[in-house]
Amino acid sequence: MTPSREASLRSELIDTCNAMAEHGLTFGTSGNASVRLDEESLLITPTGLPYASLRPNDIVHLRFDGQFYGGQRPSSEWLFHRDIMRERHDVNAVVHTHSSFATTLACQGTSIPSFHYMVAVAGGDNIRCAPYALFGTQALSDQALEALDQRTACLLANHGQLALGKDLSAALKMAGEVETLSRMFWQSLQNGSPILLSVEEMAHVKKKFEYYGKQDAPLDDGLSQDK
Ligand code: 13P
Ligand code: ZN
Repeated sequence: MTPSREASLRSELIDTCNAMAEHGLTFGTSGNASVRLDEESLLITPTGLPYASLRPNDIVHLRFDGQFYGGQRPSSEWLFHRDIMRERHDVNAVVHTHSSFATTLACQGTSIPSFHYMVAVAGGDNIRCAPYALFGTQALSDQALEALDQRTACLLANHGQLALGKDLSAALKMAGEVETLSRMFWQSLQNGSPILLSVEEMAHVKKKFEYYGKQDAPLDDGLSQDK
């Protein structure tokens, strides 16, 4: 670990928190974020500090065994950040927010079903809502990990949402997707019930996502390219 890589991850973590606030995904000191530093430690936001005041030295270096370095205490949610990084080798960054619509659904204990094809962006046919547990506890971490099985996002009952990514920008993007889907699902419930996509339809979506947005994807029938 070169010091410059750690320094740039500290800045990236602060930029991610500021982006969470700018995009309306969080307010005040609610929410937190972390990024993997190496095989046995991560960088995490400090507890209770407003994002706008964060400086690189405020970011906490936390080892998976609970040892931390620096003048600030780690986020009260260090347990789920640590457990996700330890258990999920596909994940290098975690964003937690109390964004409005995701939290609205979470307050009803509602998982997001396959009402829109983009639900598959989090890895499956739904985005689960983990049962309620007190913030900052091992019980909350255990419930979250279970709800995140085969997924890169979940809701946390009576609390908020969790979004995972291979890096901070992917985790932030996932948090934005979850909030957008939550708002659309909520809206679609206002004048009836949305029509849900079948397991087969969602399987087709997941297949198509393997190529979506990639410049080397096979061309669709009817398309030909002249470079
Ligand atoms: P921290 O300020 O300790 O990160 O807590 C905010 C939060 O969202 C707790 O769930
Ligand atoms: Zn929270």
